[in-house]
Amino acid sequence: MSANQATLVLVKPDGLKKSLTGNILTRLSETKLEIVAAKIVRVSKELAVEHYAHLKNQPFFDELITYLMGELHDRKKVMAVVYWGEDAINKVRKLAGATNPEEADPVSIRGAYGRITTKGVYENVIHASSNEAEAKREIQLWFQPQDIIVDLYPAQEVAEKEVLRKVWVN
Ligand code: ADP
Repeated sequence: MSANQATLVLVKPDGLKKSLTGNILTRLSETKLEIVAAKIVRVSKELAVEHYAHLKNQPFFDELITYLMGELHDRKKVMAVVYWGEDAINKVRKLAGATNPEEADPVSIRGAYGRITTKGVYENVIHASSNEAEAKREIQLWFQPQDIIVDLYPAQEVAEKEVLRKVWVN
């Protein structure tokens, strides 16, 4: 039996535009993993570049950044979810399917909902962390400790001075 792991899932802009969020979360619930954090994010160029830093020398990198930022779709947003539980990384990767949506198992999420555009962009609907080191790096990139309801990684409290924060006006 393997230990509990955390993994990051992103519903990419094509998934949101195609109204697939519900379908994707339903598929992922088959894993019986627990959602411990979730949010909708407007992705800056910096965040997209950092997330895919390992691919910066690939010919498709610029297009990939544009895709993650939502510039190829009307929906400039991504849904970020942290799943937690036993063998989480493999369970989610298996349901996600292969990177290339045309080669992915047809019943996987990418196989069922993904496509390659005529321009060659892999619109593969979701991102799923590939190993524990990447999961940690990605979760720490997309979330702050207080956004997550379990203590995944060591964190410390710091006193913040004069941080501007929006609050509700009633
Ligand atoms: P994965 O997302 O399955 O972990 P990678 O980390 O290799 O795969 O790639 C990250 C993302 O880059 C993919 O999900 C896909 O959106 C895009 N991508 C990967 N390979 C290609 C390719 N050959 N052409 C276009 N886009 C690609």
